[in-house]
Amino acid sequence: MSREQMVVDGARKSFQTGKTKPLDYRTHQLKSLLRFITERRKDIADAVKRDLGKSEHGTELFETLGLEGEIKLAIEKLAEWAAPRPVEKNLLTILDDVYIQPEPLGVVLIIGAWNYPWAVTLQPLVGAIAAGNAAVIKPSEVSSHSAKVMEEFLPQYLDKDLYPVVTGGVSETQELLKQRFDHIFYTGNSTVGKLVMEAAARHLAPVTLELGGKSPCYIDKNCDIRIACRRITWGKFINCGQTCIAPDYILCEPCIQGRVVECIRQTLLEFYGADPKSSPDYGRIINQRHFNRIMSLMEGYTPVVGGQSDAPQRYIAPTVLKDVPPHSRLMQEEIFGPLLPIVTVSDMDDAIHFINEREKPLALYIFCTDKKATKRMIEETTSGGVTVNDVMMHYTLSSLPFGGVGQSGMGCYHGKHTFNQLSHQRACLVRSLGMESVNLARYPPQDRRRARR
Ligand code: NAD
Repeated sequence: MSREQMVVDGARKSFQTGKTKPLDYRTHQLKSLLRFITERRKDIADAVKRDLGKSEHGTELFETLGLEGEIKLAIEKLAEWAAPRPVEKNLLTILDDVYIQPEPLGVVLIIGAWNYPWAVTLQPLVGAIAAGNAAVIKPSEVSSHSAKVMEEFLPQYLDKDLYPVVTGGVSETQELLKQRFDHIFYTGNSTVGKLVMEAAARHLAPVTLELGGKSPCYIDKNCDIRIACRRITWGKFINCGQTCIAPDYILCEPCIQGRVVECIRQTLLEFYGADPKSSPDYGRIINQRHFNRIMSLMEGYTPVVGGQSDAPQRYIAPTVLKDVPPHSRLMQEEIFGPLLPIVTVSDMDDAIHFINEREKPLALYIFCTDKKATKRMIEETTSGGVTVNDVMMHYTLSSLPFGGVGQSGMGCYHGKHTFNQLSHQRACLVRSLGMESVNLARYPPQDRRRARR
């Protein structure tokens, strides 16, 4: 029996004891998870610094703050989320109890990615605990320092049998995927997403796939370009462009392209100074493989901003490329790095056409002050989520379902959405044995009914 199989069996046995059913138990685990984040803040920040060169403030802002908010919300709302929900009745059930009862699914597998190693791994866990599941947690091996801290300290806070951490690489993940789960929650690229779905199909396990893709950003020529570029520059270059919902590329009319470039240049100077390499707020590429991949995407272009790199440090400067041909390689795959291509379009209709010709994105950003035009662009496109006149901010709301559509993913999470995603919505009808005469109409034989008529 493999180590992975033993861990999953252990989690299932523990789940089957019914330990996770009482809400008090779930609340206790959620509080312990909150305590883990508070008490291990320094270990978490150090690990992320070593993995991604991120500042302590950056980790606070983009990893732990949202996570803490999600845990607190789950603690506050758990009783409400887990309560039976009465639903409408029909004439035949008017005297009965009819309700939806959320129930735990069983054992959930959470496979995390490296770019926000804490947020993408532990936020699904919040919902898994709240919904009363056991969860096997598999952090990404790529963000190895974070994975090590998670493996070492999380079991000191959470029930070890119900919420075990399994570290390792592809072979360990594949071994895990051979096991039977009641739900698999995967964050990462779509190639592996397909393998996860294949493995899940063998056990008919439902999946949530939080994938990536190219998230477009349209700038209308009449909007405040300076402010638009400030917000885009923040979203694109934070975490060195390694953010699933970072604006992947800009679409704008040729007449504003020069001004867009200038505004981004000025903003970069303001954010990271003349030498972003020495800025404590500018990160690094996760590893050499990704460094080489991103560098190769730049081949054949002369950047209008940035373009410098330092391989040993895995540093790539914030880079802007203009007049990028729509069918170039840069425009085929998710960039997931600090390169920002600008593609020109003739107008908003052309931008809509451009977006709709491609895979459904994880996020869409529209900078436009004309409300009617904005509404039309939302109506005539699709994406996992959309933010107007800013980037990425829809992610911060626990009330909005976060997830992709089509190639950018399936299922969603955050706040109550995670709870629902990892619960079975059981349909319950409870009636009495009285009023039997009402039922005669549905019983055979038909002849008896005809005779009565
Ligand atoms: P990654 O390399 O960390 O892989 C993710 C997980 O998949 C890891 O735990 C790894 O062990 C496992 N894995 C890798 N190869 C495997 C294989 N062959 N078989 C089984 N398991 C395997 O992360 P990544 O895929 O490089 O992550 C980046 C991608 O994730 C980007 O596309 C990004 O947009 C996307 N992403 C999406 C979200 C979201 O919320 N939608 C969040 C973060 C990242």
